[in-house]
Amino acid sequence: MFSSLEGTSVVVTGGSKGIGKGIARVFAREQARVLLVGRDEEAGRAAVDELAAGGGEVSFLAADISKATGCDRVAAVAAERNGGVDVLCANAGIFPQRLIREMSEEEIDEVLGTNLKGCMLLVRACLPALERSGHGRVILTSSITGPVTGFPGWSHYGASKAGQLGFMRTAAIELAQSGITVNAVLPGNIVTEGLDELGDEYTAEMAASIPMRRLGTPDEVGYAALFLASKEAGYITGQAIVVDGGQILPESLAALEA
Ligand code: NAP
Repeated sequence: MFSSLEGTSVVVTGGSKGIGKGIARVFAREQARVLLVGRDEEAGRAAVDELAAGGGEVSFLAADISKATGCDRVAAVAAERNGGVDVLCANAGIFPQRLIREMSEEEIDEVLGTNLKGCMLLVRACLPALERSGHGRVILTSSITGPVTGFPGWSHYGASKAGQLGFMRTAAIELAQSGITVNAVLPGNIVTEGLDELGDEYTAEMAASIPMRRLGTPDEVGYAALFLASKEAGYITGQAIVVDGGQILPESLAALEA
């Protein structure tokens, strides 16, 4: 049995869609006070309506986490509405697919700026609140792509996701004495709005390459985040949990088909 997270202040960036919404849903069901962050107001409002129906206290803030001002606003609004930040889920991310030879400087900046710089700025902005919490938790949404695997078209994305883990390891050391843990979830292929854009063929090919023969759900990533946020996970820091239905395991096609 895990300790209750009722009333805990949880920030989920990218909480209006996909994996972030799954993470937010899992925390909201535990009666946490959840602040969803995204840029699109309409999607944010729809997510609040959907999640509030399942319990917990959910609200939305429109902010761009690739900018320091956006991240500062996240910390300020979490303090105003929910009394601080106990759990920071730095989940917002983008994954445009582009081969190296076609990549523009702007797109490299956008991917690294959102996925990597955004996550650093967010932790920096929320640090005072996490320290005040006394048991702050940072959970980064990285990916198997980059830290473990590669996929043509996602070199910038993979670099950003591997970079998050580099940041995590030093952040975990720097923040340990404040009682803050910093960990990551590494999703495989999860059914989300963002993934849908890659098309049915991509989804079918991915499902066939996963030992469990299906894509994951956003809530399944949420449960891993919930564990890392628990009081009971307080001695785990600087670690990464892969949530991928076994996708990274087969060492060959034969291993997958056996
Ligand atoms: P998604 O469905 O496209 O949702 C992305 C979320 O991030 C949206 O809520 C979006 O809201 C928000 N967002 C993007 N840029 C933002 C910015 N600059 N400021 C604030 N919010 C921003 O994506 P997803 O598939 O759920 O992916 C979520 C995270 O999981 C990403 O970090 C991704 O790299 C990672 N991941 C996904 C998969 C997968 O299979 N789906 C696998 C591994 C890792 P707005 O558009 O309204 O800003």
